[in-house]
Amino acid sequence: MYNAKAYSAASATAPLASTTIPRRDTTDRDVQIEILYCGICHSDLHTVRNEWESVMPTVYPCVPGHEIVGRVVKVGSAVTKFKPGDLAGVGCLVDSDHTCPNCRADVEQLCPNATFTYNSPDKHLEGITYGGYSDSIVVDEHFVLRVPANLDLAGVAPLLCAGITTYSPMRRWGVTTGTKVGVVGLGGLGHMGVKLARAFGAHVAVFTTSPGKKEDALRLGAHEVIISTNAEEMQQHAGSFDFILDTIAAEHDINAYITMLGRDGNLTLVGAPEKPLAVSAFGLLFGRRSLSGSLIGGLKETQEMLDFCGAHNITADVEVIPIQKVNEAYERLLKSDVKYRFSIDMASLKSE
Ligand code: NAP
Ligand code: ZN
Repeated sequence: MYNAKAYSAASATAPLASTTIPRRDTTDRDVQIEILYCGICHSDLHTVRNEWESVMPTVYPCVPGHEIVGRVVKVGSAVTKFKPGDLAGVGCLVDSDHTCPNCRADVEQLCPNATFTYNSPDKHLEGITYGGYSDSIVVDEHFVLRVPANLDLAGVAPLLCAGITTYSPMRRWGVTTGTKVGVVGLGGLGHMGVKLARAFGAHVAVFTTSPGKKEDALRLGAHEVIISTNAEEMQQHAGSFDFILDTIAAEHDINAYITMLGRDGNLTLVGAPEKPLAVSAFGLLFGRRSLSGSLIGGLKETQEMLDFCGAHNITADVEVIPIQKVNEAYERLLKSDVKYRFSIDMASLKSE
């Protein structure tokens, strides 16, 4: 065991602050990574503030962060994919049972025994797992991703969650050339959804509550932008979408988006608001529409997504911040004021 520097929250109401955490020594199958950048996902904020208490109560101290990119410093004797010096990525998962039907189907994120990168029971050390707001992490090589060498690392980090969470449902629902795709909410997930949908050849529209994001949405690849608070604009698009990805992090009227779908259209929910959403049966019945959820993606698909991003030169648009600004960044996330992902430069931890 060795000590790593990190930022943690002591309770649901405490700000994140500098701390030291234990990391395990590398076992045969482990990769030790020096973390260079970690993205800030809205899930970090939900967890730190215990907003998902009814489903996944937060254990404190909590070290969030599951959009990790860094450099390998050490590998165990059985590791074959990595050597010291390689770039590496870690997303939301660090372990699973490898034997259940979901693991065998390459959807480890759905394994009943999955270990998430933070706030999960730690099989190696006592207590819970600690995430990427840290200078170092040790992970089983199965859960470590190869990072394309041509991409900006600060912008790669968010691909490990925001990238795969939007890539996976669009692949599953067959988004391709000519599909009319709506992306609801232009934040971290939403802006990746726009870039990826565009790269798949879709016709892309953004639904936003922020008129000030219109130009950015077009620059990111949207063909059109719909201000969701404008009833007239919404009405013009009713019944016209094949697929809609809802990334909203807060309470909202999901029915307003379900009725945007055409016949047999699907709305996939990836946003995880604290409170349940009320769904009107009629929006689904008329038009034979469907409503689904999606959770990140398996390791194989995450690697496929990273390779796709490497080939298409896709990264997140990031505002790089020192870790000392993390609490400020959380407040800005709550105000939908993020362009379009915060990426923490972990070199800033050295001064702590
Ligand atoms: P984010 O960067 O904060 O973006 C969320 C966007 O939703 C905002 O930028 C805003 O876009 C819109 N929004 C926020 N509050 C709203 C409200 N009250 N009404 C309508 N729109 C609102 O968050 P994120 O990191 O992209 O995460 C989004 C959600 O996905 C979170 O709940 C997160 O926990 C969840 N998530 C799920 C998965 C998964 O596997 N399913 C993975 C990662 C994250 P506009 O300004 O454009 O309206
Ligand atoms: Zn996330």
